[in-house]
Amino acid sequence: MPNAQCPMPNAHCPNFMSAEIICVGTELLLGDILNGNAQYLAKELAFLGIPHYYQTVVGDNLDRLQKAIAIASSRAQILIFTGGLGPTPDDLTCEAIATYFNSPLIERADIIEDITKKFAVRNRVMTPSNRKQALIPQGADILPNISGTAPGIIWQPVNQSQKNLIILTFPGVPSEMHRMWQETAVPFLKSQGWGENIIHSRMLKFWGVGESALAEKVSSFLNVPNPTVAPYASKGEVKLRVAAKAVSESAAEELIVPVEQQIKDIAGLDYYGADDDTLASVVGGLLRSAGETVSVAESCTGGYLGQMLTENSGSSDYFWGGVISYDNSAKVGMLGVNSEDLEKYGAVSGVVAEQMAVGVKKRLGTTWGISITGVAGPTGGSETKPVGLVYIGLAAPNGEVQSFENQFGVARGRSLIRHLSACTALDILRRRLIKK
Ligand code: ATP
Ligand code: MG
Repeated sequence: MPNAQCPMPNAHCPNFMSAEIICVGTELLLGDILNGNAQYLAKELAFLGIPHYYQTVVGDNLDRLQKAIAIASSRAQILIFTGGLGPTPDDLTCEAIATYFNSPLIERADIIEDITKKFAVRNRVMTPSNRKQALIPQGADILPNISGTAPGIIWQPVNQSQKNLIILTFPGVPSEMHRMWQETAVPFLKSQGWGENIIHSRMLKFWGVGESALAEKVSSFLNVPNPTVAPYASKGEVKLRVAAKAVSESAAEELIVPVEQQIKDIAGLDYYGADDDTLASVVGGLLRSAGETVSVAESCTGGYLGQMLTENSGSSDYFWGGVISYDNSAKVGMLGVNSEDLEKYGAVSGVVAEQMAVGVKKRLGTTWGISITGVAGPTGGSETKPVGLVYIGLAAPNGEVQSFENQFGVARGRSLIRHLSACTALDILRRRLIKK
């Protein structure tokens, strides 16, 4: 039985219980496939509130598989295997488990019957090698596989020093594994007293503030046990995961909501949304509720901003289109940028960004116009206009025009500079729409 009340929530506590995921397959070690099964199971364990501290990936090798089992069984009480249940000689999971726990493998007539039926339905004859999939350790229960041939096992080996060990095996094929997990493994784990508390979380999203600056502002929440608040940062965006452990989703929500509100108050306009919200979806929502529209003029982002704005269905309500004015001739011809200003200030300048925004707003007849012009690199930079220098222009419904200079960093790489440019443009518009 798991001991949720353990006063020493770490590996030194004799009653402390955790799960370990062991993914079997040489193709995982070679990097041929992404370990999606580990990600799926990790999320599921978190949702069930089952502690999980280690994941192992091991190739199709009997000796190394047994070593992995020895290590995992010394530090976890639920071992969850995926992969290596197939009929071929390199499918070794059951053999390794049975050998490690000194149990014979027994051929189960009911599995043979089930596999034979499945082959018959597909007009195929069962091959001798498939008999291997009917071999399971003595005393193990079958974890049925409705969609594939190989069943898994649920086994609590008796001949071992560490009591209460639970072994679950799943095929590698993700769809089969997911179904077996949900339909049989989760009810079984719950029947054993695991998963009484679920973990429910909300991802709060921020733009325009660095990870450490935000972490400092919300530092009083970072060491609180329930809900926990953990920062993440990627590609200019900072996120805070607020995760609560409780008996139900609604009980967890009660813990999350007040913390979420306090964090939003502290972050102000740097907070832009939660969970599935994106900068583009938030901007879209603001434009739609204000009955306003936007068009874009893009140079170094080559249509990326337009792509982001059209990611949400129904975006034609507020996004009317754009001009990819990559060459100066397009800036002049399509957007009416003044060629003398282009000559005098250069294409990468606040003056040109403003004229691009005004030009596209006028040309498409929208209430807002937004533009991006910059040096995405890695070539094309100069001393005065280095790689990473990006201007964003904004033309507002009241005729006001502004430009914003950004330096996204010479070494950030073309793809990240373009991403930061488009996101920053959306964020500038978002802040204006909120404040106006
Ligand atoms: P099979 O009966 O198909 O041989 P199996 O249980 O032996 O099933 P594997 O042979 O290890 O499983 O994997 C079958 C397929 O499932 C792989 O080709 C791969 O596409 C996918 N797969 C295996 N392990 C993982 C994993 N950890 N994450 C995501 N996909 C996986
Ligand atoms: Mg296989």
